[in-house]
Amino acid sequence: MADRGGEAGFEGRHIRVRGLVQGVGFRPTVWRLARDLGLSGEVRNDGAGVVIRVWGGSSKLDHFVLRLQTEAPPLARVERVEQRVLHSPPPSGTGFCITASDSTSVQTGVVPDAATCAACSAEVLDPSNRRFRYPFTNCTHCGPRLSIVYAIPYDRANTSMARFAMCPACLAEYRDPADRRFHAQPNACPVCGPRVWLEDARGRQQEWGAWSKVDALDAAAELIDRGRILAVKGIGGFHLACDAGNAEAVERLRRRKQRIRKPFALMARDPHVIARYCKLSPAEERLLQAPAAPVVLLERRDGAQLAPDLAPGQRSLGFMLPYSPLHLLLLQRFDRPLVFTSGNRSDEPQCTDNERARRALSSIADVFLLHDREIANRVDDSVVRSVGAGLQPLRRARGYAPEPITLPAGLEQAPELIALGGELKNTFCLVKDGRAILSQHLGDLEEASAFAEYRKAIGLFSAVYQHRPKALVVDAHPGYRSTRFGREWASRESLPLAEVQHHHAHIAACMADNGLSLDHPRVLGIAFDGLGYGADGGLWGGEFLLADYLGYERLGHLRSFPLIGGVRAVLEPWRNAFAQLRDCVGWSRLLAVHDELELVRSLGSKPIALLEKMLEQGMHCPPTSSAGRWFDAVAAAVGVARDRLSYEGEAAMELEALVCEKDLAECAAYPFGRLRVDACLVIDPAPMWAALLADLTRGQPPARVAASFHLGLSRAVAGVAGTLARERAVSSILLSGGVLQNLVFTRLLRGFLESAGLQVLVHHRVPANDGGLSLGQAVIGAARRCSGEA
Ligand code: ZN
Ligand code: ZN
Ligand code: FE
Repeated sequence: MADRGGEAGFEGRHIRVRGLVQGVGFRPTVWRLARDLGLSGEVRNDGAGVVIRVWGGSSKLDHFVLRLQTEAPPLARVERVEQRVLHSPPPSGTGFCITASDSTSVQTGVVPDAATCAACSAEVLDPSNRRFRYPFTNCTHCGPRLSIVYAIPYDRANTSMARFAMCPACLAEYRDPADRRFHAQPNACPVCGPRVWLEDARGRQQEWGAWSKVDALDAAAELIDRGRILAVKGIGGFHLACDAGNAEAVERLRRRKQRIRKPFALMARDPHVIARYCKLSPAEERLLQAPAAPVVLLERRDGAQLAPDLAPGQRSLGFMLPYSPLHLLLLQRFDRPLVFTSGNRSDEPQCTDNERARRALSSIADVFLLHDREIANRVDDSVVRSVGAGLQPLRRARGYAPEPITLPAGLEQAPELIALGGELKNTFCLVKDGRAILSQHLGDLEEASAFAEYRKAIGLFSAVYQHRPKALVVDAHPGYRSTRFGREWASRESLPLAEVQHHHAHIAACMADNGLSLDHPRVLGIAFDGLGYGADGGLWGGEFLLADYLGYERLGHLRSFPLIGGVRAVLEPWRNAFAQLRDCVGWSRLLAVHDELELVRSLGSKPIALLEKMLEQGMHCPPTSSAGRWFDAVAAAVGVARDRLSYEGEAAMELEALVCEKDLAECAAYPFGRLRVDACLVIDPAPMWAALLADLTRGQPPARVAASFHLGLSRAVAGVAGTLARERAVSSILLSGGVLQNLVFTRLLRGFLESAGLQVLVHHRVPANDGGLSLGQAVIGAARRCSGEA
């Protein structure tokens, strides 16, 4: 019973709730709370969130507002609750109801895909439930979202569930505000929803019935148990799965997929299974079990009994938990992990449709586990690491995208714009209504099919967010596909185009990630990565920038060395070792003094004369200050991934993995020099190479060389940062760029900086690598527009 007018303290309130409150079961929660408290009124969605008009005793109303925040449904994020008194009387004789959405303002946006909730998991495993073993079970608190949406509004008709008409039982749930499936757009059951089946590699459906198995999933699990490789169609794409305890199966998968050393992600039934193979902190366990259900990189336990080449040369393993009922049912019988790597051929993006998967994966998978719900958008697994109290995202996709990031203070009025990102690990970013909306990870645009999906995703996001850009933002690199695409778009539609320097974008992304306001004093950014286009037309990648959102000044960098052979030097680390040794020591001196070293003999077997000629003529030898190439050079020097990388970042990742705590405590830091080049402070590795060669001569193992290098470089970088911070009276240091994903380096660097009294800020919502670049471009573009610059 609603309180009646005339009672003491009776009043009406207009309550607006902002944040992620649409499509997550917020209105039914409001409805339930109002009924609980005996309030009358209504709740509805509109263009800006949820609006509630409610009447009752004032203390009950206060209680109601409090509970809106404490009892919000699991996928909701309440950012703000605004209230004002309503002077109109309550509508007569109604109680509390959910009103249809305001037709004048279309509901925009879509929420991330969420892992199966506890209630749905229980139903799937309950033999008496009508959804027993049903792989597409979901509810308002869980299930697919971004991966199934084609258009707005987010209604079933605009998703890949449109072709499945709900049966009466599902429809009753869908219409009942008291039901967990009220307005759950992908609601389905075995009677009316999508189904799974098994096929062999030639596309023939497999009759599991003959094997006395319960269903296709049971049969699929049996096949994995027998060592087969399965192509599994999941939520956001295909995976290739096999038994991680079966060395022969893992080796076969590597061979067929031509994935030589890149680590495989793993999936395990529950945290207990994972804890047998990896160290697992409470924070890491929470991350694994979060609705986003990302792949979490975990430190491997010594002597873990798994196939040896799951993650060659790495100390960590990437684990995730089953995040849909399909995965839950597949994993149920395994007390050991399964490999769950993306279902693609070497460098291509993950397959999403049955037909393409049959073609692309038939030479890799023995069996296909398919289903008939289309994947509207490819959404890869997210990859994160738990660092201290926080989270370090390495790939932001399923479960995180497209959750908006509130723009820093001062940029609330920014016009709608789109930032197109970089080239590798790409994302794009929309700015609208004071928020930045990052796409999911879309991969390397050099790959034609990834570029096609990138364009498709831009189209979808533009529609879903009703986005009409007033300006475009691109990287300054003229050769990036995203840059050329942006330039064509801008000229076709006569829109202003802003070009942003790569490392400025990295630092701005880190500033926005940490919520620094537009008027925040300038910070010192350390942007270390592979390669980015420099303001002088060179290739940068080891930069000290004094920056705010509007501009930057290059104060320092790593010494430049020729990238001999251009892109080949990115793939062949020995070229970087040669370039640095040649400039720092001299090739003839190296031959004269160190000819007994395995390193020198190995370099001597390369076409040195040809390289010398290229250097002499300045052919294909652009100078670069890239930090990534420094790690490659040192890795090559100790024999790690020397000749050729089998995946991006391999040399640096394996060099880092060599470092152990004992060596860090015992080894001396390598010395580095400092130079002044023009107005910049430059770090010189010449003293480091002398010490490294001496270590190699003394027969120091690679692990100790790696430890001395990490110690020395982080100390040198912190030293230069300290000097620059003092000179420019700056107290905040921001770390960004792919190299900062090196945990050992970042931890050491952070330690040195903090003990010098500097505040250190790192990424925690977007990746430090180029996956976060579009956020930086977006805030720089927004800042320029807000301050009246182009
Ligand atoms: Zn659920
Ligand atoms: Zn049904
Ligand atoms: Fe970069």
